[in-house]
Amino acid sequence: MKIVMLGAPGAGKGTQAEKLAEKYALPHISTGDIFRKNLKEGTDLGKEAKTYMDAGKLVPDELTVRILLDRVGNDDCKDGYILDGFPRTIPQAEALDEELEKLGEKIDFAIDVDVPDENIVDRMSGRRACPKCGRTYHTQYMPPKKEGICDECASELIIRDDDKPETVKNRLKVYHEQTQPLVDYYKKKGVYHTVDGTAEVEAVFDSIKDILG
Ligand code: AMP
Repeated sequence: MKIVMLGAPGAGKGTQAEKLAEKYALPHISTGDIFRKNLKEGTDLGKEAKTYMDAGKLVPDELTVRILLDRVGNDDCKDGYILDGFPRTIPQAEALDEELEKLGEKIDFAIDVDVPDENIVDRMSGRRACPKCGRTYHTQYMPPKKEGICDECASELIIRDDDKPETVKNRLKVYHEQTQPLVDYYKKKGVYHTVDGTAEVEAVFDSIKDILG
């Protein structure tokens, strides 16, 4: 089963992707996480991605597609995967579909976690991340057990540069201009579904499970 998670930054698609990955025992693949890991390790890829990420811009398609196709070519992806934050542009979706077509495969579900812009800005202001293991939290909706400390690895939580208010506004603009056209793209393929992302985490998860059957 191959699933694409759609939705604005901060809509909660990462949280849902993580839960789905666990339930269906599929890898959760986030291009944002791959870029951040490279950034932390100081690789050339990380350095290149940083300039775009810090500005709330998209990393160029060519680079992003290369990284993603490389990742989904791994053995652990043979039964499927959950893509979180990819594709973000029509050319990215086309590149993935082209590759899948060669293998006689396709994306089975595109799940759009729908949240209005007003809610997004509010949500992003409470977002916290662990600089060590990458896990994300929300001060109000998904707090860590101990305030400001990661449940997994006990590191001190931070506000990611790309979660700062100015960057969030940019990311929303980029989302509407470049990523939202994917709604029609996947509708045409007959795999598009939408869920109300303003509901509680567990309720959103239930809606998605109903869709996947
Ligand atoms: P995310 O954690 O998915 O919100 O991604 C953080 C940042 O990484 C984005 O704001 C982009 O700068 C970059 N990024 C992640 N995925 C993609 C993608 N599919 N295409 C282009 N840029 C991406």
